[in-house]
Amino acid sequence: MVRYPVSIVRVVVAALCAIGAAACGGTAETAPAPPAPPPPVTTTARPDPAAVGADELGQVPILMYHQLSAQPAGEYDQTPAEFRGELDRLYREGYRPITAAQYIAGSIDIPAGTHPVVLTFDDSTTSQLRFGPDGRPAPGCAVAILEEFAAAHPDFPARATFYVTNDPFGGDPRALPYLAAHGHEIGSHTATHANLAESDPARVRHELASNVAAIGTAAPGVPVRTLALPLGMAPEDPALARAGTAGGTSYRFDAVMLVGANPAPSPFGAGDQGAVPRIRSGLGAVPFDSAYWLDQLAAEPGSRFTSDGDPDRISFPRDSADGPTGRWAGQAQPY
Ligand SMILES: [Zn+2]
Repeated sequence: MVRYPVSIVRVVVAALCAIGAAACGGTAETAPAPPAPPPPVTTTARPDPAAVGADELGQVPILMYHQLSAQPAGEYDQTPAEFRGELDRLYREGYRPITAAQYIAGSIDIPAGTHPVVLTFDDSTTSQLRFGPDGRPAPGCAVAILEEFAAAHPDFPARATFYVTNDPFGGDPRALPYLAAHGHEIGSHTATHANLAESDPARVRHELASNVAAIGTAAPGVPVRTLALPLGMAPEDPALARAGTAGGTSYRFDAVMLVGANPAPSPFGAGDQGAVPRIRSGLGAVPFDSAYWLDQLAAEPGSRFTSDGDPDRISFPRDSADGPTGRWAGQAQPY
């Protein structure tokens, strides 16, 4: 397994936090309960894992996007053209999108030989979703771009994870139902984009429960399975970011997403579900951004998660250092 310069990554992440640009991730130290098992999947074809180079213990890039704008306001934003360019690169390099909830549930339903990528969008701005006069996502917003790309590449479905606050997408009541109806995941980004590191426990619970309640009101019946910490800042008690109750609403997240700054481990390994790393994609090159990591993952054979095409089994080369852990061990298929 390839070793990345983790120490360097940590230094850069710390620097980003220090300048307040990205506040990357508290180190949640909770020992979370495992997420619900993935739903059973019926498969008919079982491709040969060796023939496709399957390695389901490899890393998964979880990309983090903010605003799409023709005139980006900051280094976390990018132009629609840059976003299209990154989708094109991902497609050409064999990535296929899954949601964050699918990642953490190990429900990776992409074709044999392809690599999962998670596209996440923070802050629920109208640059990500707004509607045109025809009631469709307006050209140039992220959802429209994803749909255009999927129409041109039917094996690259438009599915992403949107981390939303309590007044998402300009307050348009069509937005959350539209996302839920079109295969996207809706995740929590707190009620008011609160800095949870500076919030007392009652405030943390309120921010998360209120957000889950608001999503449930706007999109009834849609589960909220994952949380992205605003600014990457975890509460003093990281367990409060995983589960709690306030105002009659309970929340329980299968995964808590950070801001920085490296690929996520295989969901079948010993990763920390309370602190899942993401990779930033933005305007121009910054240390350890998506361009850097996609280069690294392409250059290092065996570093990427490569699907065996069968969500029921976990395939990996027999000489891998580790196998699936915990509840996943019974699905191990070394070859
Ligand atoms: Zn945010």
